[in-house]
Amino acid sequence: MVTSRAGEIAQSEIRRNNLSRMLSELHLRGPLTRSELAAILRLNRSTVASLIAELAARGLVWERSRDKPAPQPTPGRPSPVVEICREGPAALALELSTDWIRAAVIGLGAFVAVSVSKDLSLASSTPEQAVDEAHDLVGPILARLDHGPRVAAIGVSAPGAIRAEDGYIYHAPNLGWRDVPLGSMIGSRFADLGVPVFVGNDAHLAASAEHMRGSGRGTADFICLWGEGGIGAGIVVGGKSLSGAAGYAGEVGHMAVDPEGAECRCGSHGCWETEVGEEALLRRSGRDPKGGSAAVADLLEAAGKGEGGALAAMAESGRWLGIGIAGLVNVFNPSRVALGGLYARIDPYAHDALVNELDCRAMPAPRAMVELTTASLGADALLLGAAELALAPILRDPATVPLPGDAAAISSRRRARPPSYGWTLTPAEARR
Ligand SMILES: [Zn+2]
Repeated sequence: MVTSRAGEIAQSEIRRNNLSRMLSELHLRGPLTRSELAAILRLNRSTVASLIAELAARGLVWERSRDKPAPQPTPGRPSPVVEICREGPAALALELSTDWIRAAVIGLGAFVAVSVSKDLSLASSTPEQAVDEAHDLVGPILARLDHGPRVAAIGVSAPGAIRAEDGYIYHAPNLGWRDVPLGSMIGSRFADLGVPVFVGNDAHLAASAEHMRGSGRGTADFICLWGEGGIGAGIVVGGKSLSGAAGYAGEVGHMAVDPEGAECRCGSHGCWETEVGEEALLRRSGRDPKGGSAAVADLLEAAGKGEGGALAAMAESGRWLGIGIAGLVNVFNPSRVALGGLYARIDPYAHDALVNELDCRAMPAPRAMVELTTASLGADALLLGAAELALAPILRDPATVPLPGDAAAISSRRRARPPSYGWTLTPAEARR
């Protein structure tokens, strides 16, 4: 009976694929009715009903009546909507940046349950201290999740060249870290959670979040430049993130733009980062190059007041940004390039110089079709990207989420308890 067995396997594969497609649509688009799901997925209503039933049994989605009546009342019963269950599996997202650590619990649908942050110079910390700080930071927020979402995986955003397979940091020049097995260190420190750990490069994760939910939405060829201490890029080609053979792709900050240029922290000379990085910007403005985010805030304030030195420094950084972006436009032919992090903040002052250089140096055809914009998710892009990385296995195969032993208990808990904390994106005051 080989044929019948093969047929069963094929049917099972199709069902798993359909579960993945349905959960992914709800994750990205938000609540949808059964008929909308049937149209989007091109499936009949009985198949849609059966898939919803399985996702609901696994605690991933639920159906509810619409909160508000439709603007044009329609005859018959109102159609319930299917949406992500906010008490389902979630990611513990951690962000290790040069000047701070942030953490959040983020569920499917990008529901941010809680987030916390702490200012801390990671360049002055050992990797062990950074992991301990992260653990201390998230203890209290996890304790608040007794009746909330269940942490199913940990996603970590960190700067540097990071091996995708196991989260091993080969070199993070801006932190001064080399050969750090960050993935296994986080796994050991958070062993009590007993969940898998995924570590990604910060620029890759920001670009992934921007591509899915922000400035890159709807584009298949997209570049998100991300700068804080250094500069990196997430590059999406034909709808897929470019990771390279091991995950090190996108280190655009270390493209040489001046062979005679200044020494770079990576060990080379004249890298793009030595001209467009935070230190170069601060140095040109006469500020302490090591002043970090406080010095950048001071510089932005001065530029806002029209201080000549500050404006000239911004324009020079803009000029160098344009030089590098022209090269990226020529190589990748993106339809959109987004500036994120530091570059979104200086864009109002650097924009004209950047565009002028881009116009001079990019080839006319790719230049004409590229749209330049700023990242729209703000600082949340890193945590949202880290959560996407951690939740990707569930979205790929929802059937890996176990069926609960007592579905009735979960169902009654869902009815009895409205969320006791804000299910919103990070509060504005926590954004940078
Ligand atoms: Zn370099």
